[in-house]
Amino acid sequence: MEKYLLYINGEFKESSDKTTFDAVNPYSGEVFAQISKATAEDAKDAVRSARKAFDSGIWSELPRSERSRIMKQIVDKINENAKQLAKLEAMDSGSTIRKAGEDVYLSARSMNYFAKMADVDLDENIEGLSRPGVSKNILRREPVGVAGLIIPWNFPLKMAVWKLGPALAAGCTVILKPAQETSVTANELARLIDMTDMPKGVVNIISGSGSIIGNELVNNADVDKIGFTGSTEVGKTIMINAAGNLKKITLECGGKSANIVLDDADIDMSVDGAVYAAFYHQGQCCEGGTRLLVHEKIYDEFIAKLKSKVSKMKTGDPMDKTSDNGPVINRKQFDLVMNYIKAGKEEGAEVLTGGKSPDESRLLIEPTVFVNVNNKMKIAREEIFGPILAVIKFKDDEEAVRIANDSIYGLGGGVWSRDDARALKIASAMRTGTVWINDYHLMNDRAPFGGYKQSGIGREFGIDGIKEYTEAKHIHIDEIKDLNKKTWYKTVVPD
Ligand code: NAD
Repeated sequence: MEKYLLYINGEFKESSDKTTFDAVNPYSGEVFAQISKATAEDAKDAVRSARKAFDSGIWSELPRSERSRIMKQIVDKINENAKQLAKLEAMDSGSTIRKAGEDVYLSARSMNYFAKMADVDLDENIEGLSRPGVSKNILRREPVGVAGLIIPWNFPLKMAVWKLGPALAAGCTVILKPAQETSVTANELARLIDMTDMPKGVVNIISGSGSIIGNELVNNADVDKIGFTGSTEVGKTIMINAAGNLKKITLECGGKSANIVLDDADIDMSVDGAVYAAFYHQGQCCEGGTRLLVHEKIYDEFIAKLKSKVSKMKTGDPMDKTSDNGPVINRKQFDLVMNYIKAGKEEGAEVLTGGKSPDESRLLIEPTVFVNVNNKMKIAREEIFGPILAVIKFKDDEEAVRIANDSIYGLGGGVWSRDDARALKIASAMRTGTVWINDYHLMNDRAPFGGYKQSGIGREFGIDGIKEYTEAKHIHIDEIKDLNKKTWYKTVVPD
């Protein structure tokens, strides 16, 4: 059986107490790998390694082109190992093999974007400040330092890349901690990075418990920044614990996004889009369109088509290329999702299709659509992270926006319409970080992604995402070298 070790300071090692945990295939229940379980001491060790590497300048002072070249080597390694990575991702996370293949492709693409960006100078000359004509003002973007990167279980490899990419492009050194449920592909990534010219200690990857090693990263005064993706609940804990040394934090947290179908939408396309928005990766997506808002004028036709489409989805073995819906991640999540189905029924919503488990032992849950939902119900308010869609009827655009915004979250959202201007007006009124018009889920490496309200703090992707791993430094250079010519405050004193 494959065994993965901790990756600290460019070396693979057992955890200090030699303990391991199992990688379990959620569909088959098979244990297919063992992973060294880092202790708090190991986490401290990884922080020391990253700190030393950062302070030495071995990465931050490397010419940008060189950092970019090494990051491109990671892209090549991901591409060379794409098939194996996709297989492991599907085995570890229950992702359908189709989606896992796409995830690997997108991971390589995102890393390539960040590799290119590593070579871009984000420093600026600021015009028109201080004393024009006699001073120069430079805005430098310096790496924030040591970054602790903590990720969830739903998109293990993609999340790893989305965190490593901007941090490394900015010149930070890192400690990456994958979720314990899905640590395999991050550990594979450690092996691939080790084959590149990445200097020792710049990338450290350790697996284990969030409350032990995640917590250590958050509390450790030698860590300057935490980049976190996960639940809003853990995000809040991190925010409190990071206050110790006033760490910079980026939090990408939960969502309950509204997907709005207007009465002028192409019905067939928006039905397809609604299914994709809600049931992609068994609904285990933070930005998923889990509240579907449908205009009353097209409601009956839309619902009939939605029922037909969802009831034909194939739930089963994620390794089967024809499967649309694989298992949920683990027993705990299975029970949680089934309880939401129960709660939906108890609150008076009606199951349009689905609602059952075809095979409990394989953690399968049918894609489930609830109708007769109102926005006060638990299934409309709480993030479920499973294949459950809540459909709400609305009468006009104003009401749609009001319902969409009536949520503690604000991560994603969609609008389906043939009228771009109308859709754009709604998109602008939605208090959320991303809105797709006639599409869903699509990430753009250049476009910032993140949450309003309790969906998070900060942004990933694009220049905004890289800036999250930098400190802005203003350098003022006064060109007057003669004291007698200095004006000091005189320039701002009125005559
Ligand atoms: P989680 O919050 O339970 O765990 C996320 C990570 O935090 C894991 O690595 C975990 O080990 C670690 N962790 C747990 N307790 C910690 C602590 N006290 N200190 C430091 N680290 C700790 O989330 P999850 O169950 O793995 O993932 C599902 C959640 O992630 C959902 O709420 C989902 O919306 C969210 N998510 C958000 C985004 C986004 O971009 N906004 C993307 C994917 C998932």
